[in-house]
Amino acid sequence: MSTERMKAEEIWNPEHIVETFWKGLAEGKIYARKCKECGAIEFPPHIACNTCGYHETEWTELSGKAILKSFVRTGVLNARLELEDRGLKYVCGEVEFEEGPAINAVILGVTKKKAKEIREKLPVAVKPVFYDMGRYTTLFFELDE
Ligand SMILES: [Zn+2]
Repeated sequence: MSTERMKAEEIWNPEHIVETFWKGLAEGKIYARKCKECGAIEFPPHIACNTCGYHETEWTELSGKAILKSFVRTGVLNARLELEDRGLKYVCGEVEFEEGPAINAVILGVTKKKAKEIREKLPVAVKPVFYDMGRYTTLFFELDE
């Protein structure tokens, strides 16, 4: 398949964007889209740029370097059942990549005691965890200590 043909398919086929993104995670890669006009990075990847509205973006790989800016411990209403089922300790928080984009993410391994400790030190460094959920691999984070 030619490069031009690939581009056309990415523009017209959102499924292709979604597929590339999930395949990337399975390979331990975090793919985002970079705007060809203003350079803003879209993550999770979108076809168009949300910053300037330009219609063309291209694939870029994020380094995975990120900081946790704020977090909440989860309760009955916002618990992630797929994690609870696995007996994982976690919090949900705002993670900002070195490249700019910020997402709401799951940070694994944060016990109640640990949560108390890091709350005083925010922002703290986190690193990506490519977690095998069985049918797919998803992106979580853990403290980078
Ligand atoms: Zn842009």
